[in-house]
Amino acid sequence: MSAPSTQRGLTLFRLQSCQCRFPLSAEGEATLFCGAAVKPAEWSPGRPGGSYCQHHRVVARGIGSIGERTAVRVAGRLAGV
Ligand SMILES: [Zn+2]
Repeated sequence: MSAPSTQRGLTLFRLQSCQCRFPLSAEGEATLFCGAAVKPAEWSPGRPGGSYCQHHRVVARGIGSIGERTAVRVAGRLAGV
């Protein structure tokens, strides 16, 4: 799945309210976040995915690849769940 073409990435300090906080890179203080506009009606930072744009909400909520789902199942079996 490709990201929206409008995204450039913003550092945490440049993010404002209603801008997507999905991390694009993990580089400590230099981490860039998506920064795409989020509709005020959908902005709810306290909820899972509530501070993500529509695109990253879908990405974050995805069910994962077959390999990822298998890994979860195997890990659960090994843990005796
Ligand atoms: Zn985003």
